[in-house]
Amino acid sequence: MDFFIWTMVFLGIFFSVLGIVLTIIYFRKPKTPTNKPKFKYVLSESSNTFHRPECPYVKKIDSMNRNTNHNSYSTLISVGCKPCKYCNPK
Ligand SMILES: [Zn+2]
Repeated sequence: MDFFIWTMVFLGIFFSVLGIVLTIIYFRKPKTPTNKPKFKYVLSESSNTFHRPECPYVKKIDSMNRNTNHNSYSTLISVGCKPCKYCNPK
């Protein structure tokens, strides 16, 4: 009978530890990388308005007028560009 009790104790501890370990592994798992573009802002050269990359208006910018070389908000403002009112890039 003692053997049965100790087996149960062992199994209890074993599965508790297993549960903790699996929980730790689960929460330490790096989040799936989002396909975030490297650039911070997308500038429409035709309207001198810049957007967040995820802004729906970015898709409407003609590829000829699309400029993603700017990564600084202050630079864009200093050259006379305006932030988009819809996505409000900062
Ligand atoms: Zn926008």
